[in-house]
Amino acid sequence: MSEETIFSKIIRQEIPTPLLYQDELVTAFRDVAPRVDSHILIVPNKHIATINDVTSEDELTLGRMITVAKKLAKEEGIDEKGYRLIINCNNDGGQEVYHIHMHLLGGQPLGAMLSL
Ligand code: AMP
Repeated sequence: MSEETIFSKIIRQEIPTPLLYQDELVTAFRDVAPRVDSHILIVPNKHIATINDVTSEDELTLGRMITVAKKLAKEEGIDEKGYRLIINCNNDGGQEVYHIHMHLLGGQPLGAMLSL
């Protein structure tokens, strides 16, 4: 498995980023460079580099990422209007940080799913 990223330091609060949510499996915080009005990252506490590295042992964690996304969308007040969840994988997928994370994007109309 590849080395830890800055996200592990945020999860351990070695870099003092405000956390929106944390439990024994996942952590959520705002994206440092938000692309839309509401842009939150939901991250497993365990370092998993890409979705290709996920195993059946991670299913509880991956499910928790979704339920936390739902909770945070409600707290952000974007649940009724709608939002998008994205996990990028590897180069063609546009992944920049090699610690899997779900983007919660909303707060404005998001338009087409892809613009290539
Ligand atoms: P991805 O391209 O899917 O790997 O997304 C990585 C995301 O992490 C980008 O949207 C970055 O803006 C965000 N990011 C990178 N460093 C930090 C940080 N220290 N705190 C919060 N978000 C970060």
